[in-house]
Amino acid sequence: MEQKMNIKDYDIQDLEHYFTEKKLPKFRASQVFEWIYKDAAHFCEMTNLPKQVIEELDKDFYIARHKIVELQHSKNDNTRKYLFELSDSSTVECVLMEYTYGKTACISTQVGCKMACTFCASAIGGFIRNLSCGEMLEEVMAISRDVKDRISNIVLMGMGEPFDNYEEIIKFLKLVNSSKGLNVGMRHITLSTSGIVPKIYDFADEQLQCTLAISLHASDDATRNALMPVNKKYNIGKLMEACKYYINKTNRRITYEYALIKDINDSADAADKLARLLRGQLCHVNLIPMNTVEGKGFEKSTKQAVAKFRDVLEKQGIEVTVRRELGSEIDAACGQLRRRVQ
Ligand code: SAH
Repeated sequence: MEQKMNIKDYDIQDLEHYFTEKKLPKFRASQVFEWIYKDAAHFCEMTNLPKQVIEELDKDFYIARHKIVELQHSKNDNTRKYLFELSDSSTVECVLMEYTYGKTACISTQVGCKMACTFCASAIGGFIRNLSCGEMLEEVMAISRDVKDRISNIVLMGMGEPFDNYEEIIKFLKLVNSSKGLNVGMRHITLSTSGIVPKIYDFADEQLQCTLAISLHASDDATRNALMPVNKKYNIGKLMEACKYYINKTNRRITYEYALIKDINDSADAADKLARLLRGQLCHVNLIPMNTVEGKGFEKSTKQAVAKFRDVLEKQGIEVTVRRELGSEIDAACGQLRRRVQ
């Protein structure tokens, strides 16, 4: 018997194709699509479909629903951290953050990660597999179901490297953005990459309106090589060229993420190098106080070092914010919850 497919991996065109092959009316596609986004759990709930169509769908598809295996809720700031079990029993993490403008879901794009950044917990168990677009969609839907509210913003900043799962990411972005789907505005979505250069060019050419964030974390190659192995393949120079191409092509601002690690990348000199690197670019720097991961030997920078770093950037005209720390008491840093549970 053929394996059943997760129907959440199908967009309207895929469903139309399916119904055409089955010699069933094509308009069933948009009916089914709407039911998926109304969060139907079973095909028999799709009450405007004839019995024969429901039986066909039941034979060929399942409707993926992630199981919550662990949920940590921070009472201080209402951050929720989920560990979800997927249909093959792999687990991924997601975080829900509440801001005044709405609810933001931080979702994972892979089970594990290949990038092996030295300060991050996601790659500790190695790489297992890519998530499909429907599995990523269901991360958003599962959170929305749990909090009984709409998710207005999405950040692809959970486990995994989005640009190492490029095709599914592009399909996911189009699905969540679809007006008949979750209808999350592209401008309310942020994709974060460790800097896989060729994919930055491809992504620029897609001309999507979503925000691109680059995990920079260092302003010289020696430091970045030590923190992020990807830099040995695509160094800061190549990365900056790709970023400039992206900005020119899309006219969109890039967010640079910079996790401040005590005595590693947080000196005034490092800030000065960063300012020189980014000067004149349409960009924004997000300083993140490093989240300590047990056994990694990195510490977060002192408040004074963060303030000084910020000051150096601001004085050179670089737009900068210090990210508010959410969920610091609930293992909310990338890969930490999964690691603890496993
Ligand atoms: N692979 C992508 C997206 C996932 S990580 C990327 O690298 O951008 C999301 C962000 O969290 C990245 O900027 C990552 O470098 C950062 N991060 C990982 N571990 C961290 C830690 N312990 N403290 C602070 N930021 C961390």
